[in-house]
Amino acid sequence: MEYTFPVTRTTSPKEKPDVNALGFGKYYTDHMFIMEYDEGQGWHDGRIVPYGPLTIDPAAGTLHYAQMSFEGMKAYKNPNGGINLFRPDMNAKRMKNSNDRLCIPQIDEDLFVAAVKAIVKEDADWAPDAPGTSLYIRPFIISPEPSMAVHPASRYWFIIILTPVAAYYEGNDKELHGSRIWVEENYIRAAVGGTGFAKCGGNYSCGMIASEKAKEQGCEEVLWLDAKEHRYVEEVGTSNAFFKIGDTVYTSSLTGSILPGVTRDSTLQLLRKWGVKTEEKRLLIEDVLEAADNGSLTEAWATGTACVISPIGLLKYKNMLYGMQTGIREPEMDGWVITL
Ligand SMILES: *Cc1c(COP(=O)(O)O)cnc(C)c1O
Repeated sequence: MEYTFPVTRTTSPKEKPDVNALGFGKYYTDHMFIMEYDEGQGWHDGRIVPYGPLTIDPAAGTLHYAQMSFEGMKAYKNPNGGINLFRPDMNAKRMKNSNDRLCIPQIDEDLFVAAVKAIVKEDADWAPDAPGTSLYIRPFIISPEPSMAVHPASRYWFIIILTPVAAYYEGNDKELHGSRIWVEENYIRAAVGGTGFAKCGGNYSCGMIASEKAKEQGCEEVLWLDAKEHRYVEEVGTSNAFFKIGDTVYTSSLTGSILPGVTRDSTLQLLRKWGVKTEEKRLLIEDVLEAADNGSLTEAWATGTACVISPIGLLKYKNMLYGMQTGIREPEMDGWVITL
């Protein structure tokens, strides 16, 4: 099905930011996509409008009980001046799963992808082309419906905003030597049966305290362990974790408490294509640290749309630092890149 969306252009386009000072989410483009949902009517009136503040009732359920879901993807300027999207169908599918978990009505995958394409095309001139930069895409769903009762809303907004971004981890040091990761033993991100596999706001607000602790420990990110035994490696901050031990690359299986990353899936597919042995399983933190000590751990990295493929340089567990060796490769697979 073909979708077209009416466009209301801004009358006051913003000045484009300096590509050398983009940061992550400091600047937003001239337009946004918005579509509404009403019970009985479904999703309707998708349109592109000037970027700007929302008027929302202070009693909106989203603000109190966090019924919301979101996605994160990137558009890249290609060498021919066009724009590439990376496997947008995967984000559409994942948002469906998140919505199911949070009792939010699903958005048809084609409609989701059409909306993303339309807003990225509209603000394509905001896609930066300096190395490491991209146009970060943030689709999200909230409900403007006022209600103090805890139940699913009957009205929703699906909104897509765009922000030109630099690399997530700034500075060459981290690119070369990897980031320092704090292994969190007390706080947890998600438990099986909870919302760990869904991209929803509540997963992140509860993790901030551990991120602050990591910073106090001189680390950039948190390595989450499982909620029950605090022994199995889950993921790193907002990215999935990979460890090469011996001749095998390990990443946690999708237990329900892990976010199924598109970059994780792409990484596994590429490694298999290259003939590298991979295993998705629950990995004990003791085994990772022992492998670091005896030299069989040769690479460790995190994967995510925001942080791309980021080498992990050190794990800090209790009061000990464990060094990881790191390496980087470039992905290339048919059908993943969608050119607009
Ligand atoms: C988004 C996210 C990831 C990475 O997913 P990608 O699809 O690769 O961007 C991993 N873990 C968490 C907790 C996330 O929110």
